[in-house]
Amino acid sequence: MAGPTSSKPPSTPAEKEHLRVMRELRQQGQAALTWGLPNPASEAAVLGMGLLMRDRLAAGTDDDRATGAAALAAAMLDRTVQKMPQASSYQCAKGCNFCCYSAVSVTAPELFRVVRLIGVEGAPAGLDRAGTLARATARTKAEKEGVLMGRPPCPLLIEGDCSVYADRPLGCRQFVSTNLEGCRTAHASGRSDLPFVPAAANAGLIIRSLLLGAVVSIGQKAETYELSSGLAVVLAEPDAERRWLAGEDVLAAVPKMEQPPNMRESVARWSGMLNGLFV
Ligand code: SF4
Repeated sequence: MAGPTSSKPPSTPAEKEHLRVMRELRQQGQAALTWGLPNPASEAAVLGMGLLMRDRLAAGTDDDRATGAAALAAAMLDRTVQKMPQASSYQCAKGCNFCCYSAVSVTAPELFRVVRLIGVEGAPAGLDRAGTLARATARTKAEKEGVLMGRPPCPLLIEGDCSVYADRPLGCRQFVSTNLEGCRTAHASGRSDLPFVPAAANAGLIIRSLLLGAVVSIGQKAETYELSSGLAVVLAEPDAERRWLAGEDVLAAVPKMEQPPNMRESVARWSGMLNGLFV
């Protein structure tokens, strides 16, 4: 698998040109990490973001490469959402949890990132393995039974607070609202159609497609999973992230979540472009 850099210096004009293109794409990706997704976004800028995620997934032998790629995707989304014109009106903050009762769709890297925080020294009270597994199992059961009103919230919501707030999945970061009362009302009536800012949700979809494109380009599947059932499986699997990075489908038993329209096409397109950079 090709890494982010080659130790062999380029010798032919074609190799030099390829090196220049890769350097430029990575610069564009770094700019997006600093400033967010440009608007309008050029294809090179978006591909550069995906290349950084792919670099993180593929380079080296660290067991936390998937976690690192998920962190990059989250940082890019945060920068993008924070520079939107509506940003000064966002009502979202740690402790507001009206949207924590809906199903959360995650990619494998995001799932591994969250699991790394569970039961470690200094974790918030309640974010232990046994307690999280029990809450995830209860939540999964309610999901399966189609319980809407009064169902348990996300298993990572502890005493009203997101226990992994800084590391929460893209599916939580992309749904921001400028209408607190609308969120309150939708939640009180058991609805999941909270009044989210469409542009932020769309940026989340683009960045998730890139992350999945990078996942496919290292040979894994472009699937999204429901957070609770994913947690229940990964918490019971030793070394899940390391094994997944080695090519094992440790999430085979987790039910897949339906993806938004055109997402599979978008993922296939980005993964094809990323793979094309390494032939
Ligand atoms: S991960 Fe955190 S923000 Fe996302 S649904 Fe769960 S508790 Fe809420």
